[in-house]
Amino acid sequence: MLAIALGLIDGRPDRCQSLHQDGCQSLHEESVQTSRMANHLFPISLRKLTPLLDALYPPRCAGCQQSGYVLCPACIAKMPLLPLPVCLYCGSPLAQAGVCRFCQSHPPRIGALRAACVYQEPLRGCIRALKYTGNTRLAEPLGLLLAQAYRHYGIVADALLPVPLHSERLKQRGYNHAALLAEVCARRLRIPYVEDMLVRRRDTRPQVGLSHLDRLQNVQDAFLCSPTFTRGQLRGRTLVILDDVCTSGATLEACAAPLFAAGAQAVLGLTLARPFAL
Ligand SMILES: [Zn+2]
Ligand SMILES: [Zn+2]
Repeated sequence: MLAIALGLIDGRPDRCQSLHQDGCQSLHEESVQTSRMANHLFPISLRKLTPLLDALYPPRCAGCQQSGYVLCPACIAKMPLLPLPVCLYCGSPLAQAGVCRFCQSHPPRIGALRAACVYQEPLRGCIRALKYTGNTRLAEPLGLLLAQAYRHYGIVADALLPVPLHSERLKQRGYNHAALLAEVCARRLRIPYVEDMLVRRRDTRPQVGLSHLDRLQNVQDAFLCSPTFTRGQLRGRTLVILDDVCTSGATLEACAAPLFAAGAQAVLGLTLARPFAL
């Protein structure tokens, strides 16, 4: 497990580049198909609509309401990346590089978890606005924050995947916030974005308020790896699953299980925030 975690964060961008050149074509092709599927929900790209939306409805900063910004520089400055070093497994800040006491006795089944920031204002309010009040413009600055975190931790991956929503939930909400974030992040990092590799086979209760054991049971076997991806495509791959918030890591671990079973070599969870007490 330790070797996997170390291998994930070896910080060698050249390795990523060479893998993309010789091995990621199939994942690239899948990601293009996925974008076409997403266009059924949004016939015109949100990105192309943004200048028009900005002209009609000038944005207000989701953190401080300042006009002219989706998220203003002062509020972005209040979202510092977690200081290094962090636990190799769970990503909690440590005084010295290594593995935290909890992970020494309870190593996560996922290779490693990383969060960009502490779950606190103004980021907490921005995540809620993106997720629950339809402020999808926030996907751009928050997706870029995820890309910064990816580089901050020296992650090297073959593809980015969002935590999927159940199809009924997707119909209700109209978008998957994790997918919007992952798309922006992957575009900035020039890494394949694969929206449909992970499938949520059943809806789950919100994890908020559940005990650690209940969280694990709530999401157990809730995800599967789409059969359109073969073992040959996944063998030896390092995949990063993106989401907004990680609390216990149970959802990301449940996502990782079918990817490992389908042949992925390493799986890492990267989120915008986690409620660490610094
Ligand atoms: Zn602001
Ligand atoms: Zn740890």
